[in-house]
This record gives sequence, C-alpha cells and structure tokens, in this order.
Amino acid sequence: MGEVIRVAVSGASGRMGQEVARTVRAQADMRLVAAIDVAGAGSDVAQQDGSPCGVIVQSDISKALGETDVMVDFTRGDVAPANILAAVRAGVACVVGTTGIAADAMARIGEAAREKSVPVLVAPNFALGAVLMMRFAQEAARFYEWAEIIEMHHENKIDAPSGTALRTAELMTSDKTFQSIKNETEKLPGARGAQHGGVRIHSVRLPGLVAHQQVMLGGSGETLTLRHDSMSRVSFMPGVMLAIRAIRGRTGLIVGLENLMH
Ligand code: NAD
Repeated sequence: MGEVIRVAVSGASGRMGQEVARTVRAQADMRLVAAIDVAGAGSDVAQQDGSPCGVIVQSDISKALGETDVMVDFTRGDVAPANILAAVRAGVACVVGTTGIAADAMARIGEAAREKSVPVLVAPNFALGAVLMMRFAQEAARFYEWAEIIEMHHENKIDAPSGTALRTAELMTSDKTFQSIKNETEKLPGARGAQHGGVRIHSVRLPGLVAHQQVMLGGSGETLTLRHDSMSRVSFMPGVMLAIRAIRGRTGLIVGLENLMH
C-alpha cells in the first residue's frame, strides 16, 4: 500500500464533520489523526456511532495539528478562517466545505496560502452532481437573458443564500448581467429574493430537506430547469475524499471542486 494520508477534521462534532470522520476512517489510504470542535471536546469522535476509535475531540487547534497532512473544515463561516489560517501556518493542506466565509477573510486565506506555499481548496458543494449542475448552468447562461435560482436547505442552515447558489450566480454572470424587471414593487420586502448580476436567488428552509438547487432560465416560449438534489450528507463524501487525495501537490487557494476533477 502507498503512503497513508493523515487527516484532521475541524467541526468534527457537527453533521458534516461526523460524516467526514466516519468516511475517512473507512478509507484504506487515510488515517484520522485529529478531531477539532468546540462542542464535544474530550469525548471520542466516534462516540455517536457507538464504536470509539481512540481519536479524542480537542478544542485547541494549535495542539491538534502536529502530525496532520490535510485538515478538512466544516464549521461556520465566521470561525473557519481562524482554523484555516492556523493550519496554513502549520504547513497543513486544507479542504474547506464551510460556506459563508467573508470575502476579506477569503483574501487573507489566499495570501497566507501563497506565502506558505500550502494548498487550500474551498468548495461550496462537494456533491459531484452539484458541481456538474453549476457547470451546465454556466454553459446555459450564454444562451439566455433571464435566470433565477431557487436553493432549498434544512432548517438548521444559518447562512443564506447558500454558497452553492452564490457560486452558481457568480459563474453565470462572470461576463454578463441578466435582465431584470424594471420598476417592480414588492408588497412584502424580500418577495423577489436576493440578486446577483441580475439573477434572483430564493432561499427555502424546511425540515426534511438536505441540500437542493434549481436553476431556471427563461427564453422565448420556453424555460430550461437544471436541478440537483442531495438526499443525504453521504452525497458530499466522494467529493471530499477526492479533494483530500488531490489537494497535495497543489499550492495556493483553489475555489471550486471542479478544479480538482479531471
Ligand atoms: P453543524 O452546525 O452541524 O456543524 C458545525 C460544527 O462546527 C459544530 O459541531 C460546531 O460546534 C463546530 N464549531 C463551531 N465553532 C468552531 C470552532 N471555532 N472550531 C471548530 N469547530 C467549531 O453544521 P453542518 O451542517 O455540519 O455544516 C457545516 C458547514 O458546512 C456549514 O457552513 C455548511 O453550509 C457547510 N456545508 C457545506 C457542504 C459542501 O458540500 N461544501 C455541504 C454541507 C454543508
């Protein structure tokens, strides 16, 4: 067997962190070496599965990263930058799924990654189908002047719009602005959703949902709808594992899983 990749999970007690820790432990070429979270510190990361694995959740990231090759971060947009910068300064490659990271924090991460020659991948969506949906939406954007995005997530998601919706709109509007209704009135503020480059973005939050997105483009007498559904968090794991394997050997800030999928 080749070299084993030593992986740390930040946000290890959360919904995504638990799934990542479980999946990493099942890979023959990876070893879970650290779990970082402010919740559940002191307990075994696999306690919820009823099969302790000996990796104890730690709250102090500076003590957790000693023997780590890649840190995976699924935390919150406001706290992730500090974790990522700590990892980069320690020379640890990062795979980041956390959404809602502010633009100025992202710029600081990019600068640090460049200075330290450490790779950092930030991907708003690790589901392979969602990456394809974004690519197809970008392609379709060339042929339409009107588009709206409806993103749907579980009721515990705290940032809106979703990172995937924002990234989709950014890709669709990289070299154009979509048309929008002039002089429209909203009887209830927010009725028409948010807006990026003329693309309206609507955020639905409901229990029972995981992560879903519909991109609608409208033309003369026709509409085109692109839809992706993540039915379970398992859908994100092939993309996260791909990123852990592909990130080493890269350098600097990389945004979007598509840059590692060839
Ligand atoms: P969650 O609330 O279940 O988990 C977040 C975890 O981060 C919690 O356990 C919390 O205690 C921990 N945390 C908070 N502050 C911390 C700190 N300073 N250091 C370490 N851990 C800290 O949330 P979730 O559903 O697992 O989602 C996490 C993030 O991942 C969100 O930003 C979400 O939008 C994003 N997400 C991304 C993808 C993707 O494919 N990129 C998919 C799903 C979710």
